[in-house]
Amino acid sequence: MNLEYDPGFLDAVVTDALRRAEAAGDRAAAADLQSALEPVYRMPAGGARDQAFAREQLRTFRQLGLERAVLAGLAEFPELARRVDRLILCRATTRREEEADVLPAEKGRAVRLRVLPDRLTGPAGLVALLRVELTRILDLLDPEFAFVPCGRLADRPAEENLTRDRYRLFWTLSVEGRLAAAGRGEAGAAPRARTELDRLYASLPEEGRERLFLRYWTGPRPTHAEIRRLARETAAVLAAAGLPHDYSAHPTSGMPCPLCRFPAFDWAPAPASARVVRAVLQDFPEWTATAGLCGRCFELYDRS
Ligand SMILES: [Zn+2]
Repeated sequence: MNLEYDPGFLDAVVTDALRRAEAAGDRAAAADLQSALEPVYRMPAGGARDQAFAREQLRTFRQLGLERAVLAGLAEFPELARRVDRLILCRATTRREEEADVLPAEKGRAVRLRVLPDRLTGPAGLVALLRVELTRILDLLDPEFAFVPCGRLADRPAEENLTRDRYRLFWTLSVEGRLAAAGRGEAGAAPRARTELDRLYASLPEEGRERLFLRYWTGPRPTHAEIRRLARETAAVLAAAGLPHDYSAHPTSGMPCPLCRFPAFDWAPAPASARVVRAVLQDFPEWTATAGLCGRCFELYDRS
């Protein structure tokens, strides 16, 4: 497998590393690169000059020991070399952009990984990102996972972001859960994934969210079709969470509150506490907690 660096990424990493070295009083590497680049700057603009520039950047990159972290991370994935011909590291500008994808290529198979430059120069570290993204890429290339490239996930454009977040959540749960089981997980990954699950499925009861979490964190890897289904269909999530298919915990804004009958735009957070449920049931024995209650009624029963 050929390891390649996008020139913009290489330049950003080397510049940042030299700046840090200079701040620590070490100017040797910067002076060395500067003198190596002097003849390059005198070359006519064009492909040959760009290549010479990139060659010197790469030499400095290696001299500063920056490639070691990349090679150490890749050494954990020997299978990748059998499935991929080129791995290209490119520059990400935000954490959200840090992601690997398979590029459409005429010859062989190329994977592009977008990385924030300070993963190599700062304390954030590269290895955790490589573990997550390369595990995802191996899923993607595994025929049993049956990945199907999909442009848009949601049926309605307004739901695309939410659907995409959910799609990402289930895949991440499985990837990070498997890494944790292998002793290669990142500290804090489990609570972070659980917080994201709670955010995306706030309307489900706690025990349902816990079942969802455990199922994908510790259970067998889902197929790509299952991840897509979970992201798109409430019924699939309810089934995986062990909840009845007609479970409805999230009354929509403007629906009448089952207690006071007024249109409610501020539903109480679900699930309501056991104490509130008990208090409501004294006045409304037919009520079920899943039907919810409005914010005003909640306050009333919370105080009683
Ligand atoms: Zn009410």
